This record gives sequence, C-alpha cells and structure tokens, in this order.
Amino acid sequence: MSAARLRIAASVPSIGGAFTAEDLHEVVSAGDGPGIGVATVYRAVAAMTAAGSLAAVGARDGSTLYALCTGGEHHHHLVCTGCGTVVGIGCPIDGALRRSAEEAGYTVTSHEVTLYGLCRDCSGKRA
Ligand SMILES: [Zn+2]
Ligand SMILES: [Zn+2]
Ligand SMILES: [Zn+2]
Repeated sequence: MSAARLRIAASVPSIGGAFTAEDLHEVVSAGDGPGIGVATVYRAVAAMTAAGSLAAVGARDGSTLYALCTGGEHHHHLVCTGCGTVVGIGCPIDGALRRSAEEAGYTVTSHEVTLYGLCRDCSGKRA
C-alpha cells in the first residue's frame, strides 16, 4: 500500500458515516502532507471496496456513497438520510423472500439491499 493509500484509509473513520469519494478527497486534502489527487482517492476507494473494507450504500447527487464496512458475516446497511450514519443489519432475504422466489421457480444467486431512513437522533430532531 502506498503512503497516499494509507493516508486515505486513515481519513475514512473521521468522516463517521456515508461519504462520497469527493467528500473523502476534501478530508484528505485538509490534512498535512503532500496533496493527493482526486483520481488517487477514487482508486483507493475502489480498492478498499474490492477488499470489503468499504461498502457502496447508495448515491448522492450522482456520486456513489460509501461507508466503512466491518465485513465478516453477510449483512446489509441502514443509512440515515439525515446525518449519514450507517449501521449493519442482518439479512432479510434468507427467509420469506427467498422462499417466495423459490416458489416462483427462481434460484436466487445474488441480491443487494440498502435501507434508508432517519436515525434516532435525526428523527428526534424532526419530531
Ligand atoms: Zn457492512
Ligand atoms: Zn441521523
Ligand atoms: Zn442479504
């Protein structure tokens, strides 16, 4: 891993929620050290996503939103549209939905689920 990649990876936790590659580039650029081009950030984000440490969790203004992912057991992400907080949730597919698909004669080979809503703090503010 290059020094630039390491700095980019180290900046991700400080964002604390869903972010675009542009957001991450801003955070990385605000830090010390030599400048890092946005293309380098895109490549780092792609590499971290391929490695499973980041997950794509939707889009904002046409840019993919990413979030830190713990990996491990298969799970999905619940994204707060207010503050961008992301939490992992269990898989809803391996029960009734999969059975419904099988009754229709389908073998499910892959699926993507991302849930959007408001976290407790954000929904409290709006109440
Ligand atoms: Zn995850
Ligand atoms: Zn929130
Ligand atoms: Zn699933």
